Formats: sequence, C-alpha cells, structure tokens
Amino acid sequence: MQDSVKCVLEFYRELGFESLPLNYSNIKGSNKLRVASNELKDEKEPEDPSPVTRYSLPDKEDALRALREDIGDCRRCKLSKGRTHLVFGEGDANARIMFIGEAPGREEDVQGRPFVGDAGRLLTKLIEKMGLKRTDVYIANIIKCRPPMNRDPLDDEMATCFPFLDRQIEAIAPQIIVSLGKISTYTLLGIKGPLSSFSISRTRGKFHEYKGIPVMPTFHPAYLLRNPKDKWLTWDDAQAVLKKLSNNYK
Ligand code: SF4
Repeated sequence: MQDSVKCVLEFYRELGFESLPLNYSNIKGSNKLRVASNELKDEKEPEDPSPVTRYSLPDKEDALRALREDIGDCRRCKLSKGRTHLVFGEGDANARIMFIGEAPGREEDVQGRPFVGDAGRLLTKLIEKMGLKRTDVYIANIIKCRPPMNRDPLDDEMATCFPFLDRQIEAIAPQIIVSLGKISTYTLLGIKGPLSSFSISRTRGKFHEYKGIPVMPTFHPAYLLRNPKDKWLTWDDAQAVLKKLSNNYK
C-alpha cells in the first residue's frame, strides 16, 4: 500500500504536480461528481447559477455545423493568406468544459486540429489527469488561422475572428471555460488597457465570467513547457474547475 502511494506521488511529481488529483467520476453521464479530497470537501463555495443551455444536443451540433458553413473558406482577415488549414475547434458539442487557447501553431495549421503539437500533448495530459478524455471537452482558439511565425494575433485579426468563437461558445453553452494563456484570457474577459500590462499570473486561479459563464484563466501549455515549475499552479486551477462542476451537481 505504502509502495503504491509512493509510486503515485512520484508519478505526479514527475509531471511537475505537487498535489494529487480529485477522484472524479465520468463527467458526461453522472449526476454527481465525487470529490475525493477531504480538504476540498470541507470548503463551502456559493453555487453559481448554471448558464442557460440554449440548445439540445442535436441543435448544438446543427449550430456548430451552420457556423462552420458560415466561416467557409474564410478570407475575412489577412491570416488566411498564410494558413494551410483553418482550425475550427473540436470536441463534444455538449461539453461542460471548453478550453480556449490563442491561435493555431505550426502543427495545428498542418493538421487542421487544435492543440496537437507539444503544447497540445501537455493539454491532453492535463485533461486526462482531470479524469476526462479530450473527446469529453471542447477545444478551440480565439483565432482560427495561424499567425505567421507564431506571432501574437493583431487587434484587427482578433476583432474579425472573435465573433466566430462567440457563436461557438453560445452553441456549446459550456458550464465552465478554461482560458489558456494571456491572449485568450485578455480577449474573453474584455480587459481594458494594453495587453502588455496584463498579467496572466495575477489573473489565473480565480473565476471570472464571459456572458454569465464562469471562466478560469490559467497558463498556456506552451508556457508550461518552458516553465514546468508552474505546472502545479495550473493543476490547482484544474482542481478549482472540477470543484465548481461538482458543486453544480449537488
Ligand atoms: S483568422 Fe478567422 S477571420 Fe481570419 S481568415 Fe481565419 S477564420 Fe477568417
């Protein structure tokens, strides 16, 4: 028993985590999420009203299909010129958690899928540590085409592309959004002031809101690849997300 606990602890330490995950039953089918951490069980948090689910599952899928058709072979901004594939987003149309990153990178541009490079593999690991599969959640970006040399998206590009993501969020109506990194968080939270003075370190770890949907900002997986010591902070944020979801089912 002692040996197996030690193995688990070492496994999580290798991943850069400093605390163990919650024991979390299947989020899709379950009416109740089991939280194994006594420490978390004891804390009381006021329940947030769940966002109104505007669509049934077939309607959600229809809404996403209609959105994809509307986007088409989009040439609405200059990023269309350099892209290989437009990266629409993927996952469960009925997902309770939506992960939103910044923009496709090289690998995503080649494959036409979000978060499939090294950063994507780390995100997948995080999702799995949360007790979920990638197919249980929905993954998208603020921008749907790769900026050249992975530069930050420009204001005009974000302003042109963001309404598509807004419709995607409305169609899926997730219970929680996890915004990955500075640009995604800055955009979703509608932060006033220059991006350069916005700090994800100071914003992460607390719930904010986008149109009534709780938003948990956390570090972008690409940042975590460069700064693995901060993985445990992201894991704390993931635990807060699981806890809020479990409160929604009480
Ligand atoms: S980034 Fe968005 S707005 Fe620009 S071309 Fe791609 S899909 Fe269209």
